[in-house]
Amino acid sequence: MRILIADDNSVTRRMLKSFLAKWGYEVITTKDGDEAWEVLKEDDCPDIAILDWVMPGKEGLDVCRMVRAANKPSYIYIIILTSLGNQDDIIAGLQAGADDYVIKPFNYDEFRCRVRIGERIINLEREIMRMAATDGLTGLWNRREFMDKMDAEFKRSQKEGRSLGVILSDIDFFKKINDTYGHQAGDLVLQEFAGCLKYNIRQPGFVGRYGGEEFIAGCPGLTLDGVASLAEHIRNELKSLWIPAPDGSSHIPITASFGVSVFMPGESSDKTIDTIIKRADDALYRAKAECRDRVCRQC
Ligand SMILES: [Mg+2]
Repeated sequence: MRILIADDNSVTRRMLKSFLAKWGYEVITTKDGDEAWEVLKEDDCPDIAILDWVMPGKEGLDVCRMVRAANKPSYIYIIILTSLGNQDDIIAGLQAGADDYVIKPFNYDEFRCRVRIGERIINLEREIMRMAATDGLTGLWNRREFMDKMDAEFKRSQKEGRSLGVILSDIDFFKKINDTYGHQAGDLVLQEFAGCLKYNIRQPGFVGRYGGEEFIAGCPGLTLDGVASLAEHIRNELKSLWIPAPDGSSHIPITASFGVSVFMPGESSDKTIDTIIKRADDALYRAKAECRDRVCRQC
C-alpha cells in the first residue's frame, strides 16, 4: 500500500519515511501542500496521506478539503499530523475531512496502529468497490460497471479517432442445459464461458455479464473484421472446452451465438453507445435466427 507524506520539516519527513518503509509501505514524500496535491489529484495516487497542517503554500487542511471536494473514485485515507493540539484544532482538522488526527510529538507504536486502521479501511473500501462492480458468479464486470467503462471508452475513441468494437454473445439453448444437467451445471457453464471470453479478450478489451446467459465485450482499436474474427476464434474455442457433466462420465458441449458491431471514427456524431450495442444486438438476433453457433456482423 502506498502512503504519501507531506511535511515541510525534513527531519520529520525522513523519520516517517524510514518507519513507514520498515512497516512495509511504499512511501512518497513531499515537502509542502502544493506538491502533495499534485500527487493526490492523480488517478493513480497513494491510498493513505499523512499531512502536516502548517506548511508553505497549501496547508494540510486545504489539501484535505481539496481531496474531499474532488470526490475521487477511490478513497484516500487522510491522517493530519501536526503540533497544533487544541480541541478547536482537532475539530477543524476532522471537519476538513481528515479521518484521523495525530498530535506531535507522537508515539511511533501508536502511530503504526493508526496507520493500520487506515489500511484496513482502504482494504474494506476496495473490497466493497470490487463487489459492487463485478458479477458474483463469473467475476466479470457487471452490466452497470461495463456500461460505465464502455461510456468512457466511447468518449476516448471519439476523441482519439480510434475504432471501438462490440461483441455480444449468448450461450445457445442455455435453458436446455439447465433442464438437462441442473442449475449447478448451468452455473459452471456460465463460469467456463466467461473464463473463455476473458482469456481471449485481453487488455485493453473488457468483458461484462450483460444478462442471464448473455455477455458483452468492448474491444478498443478493433475494426469490424477484427471483432468478427475474434468472435469467430472464441466460437471455435468453445468446441474444445471440456465442462464436466454432473454424472462425471460425460461433458457438457456448448455453443454460442455472436453479434458484432463497431464504432468507426468519423461516423456521424449522433451515434451513441446504445446504437452501437443495438447493432450488435440485431446481429446477435440474426445469428440466433440462422440456427445459432455463428457470428453475425452489423455495420
Ligand atoms: Mg509544518
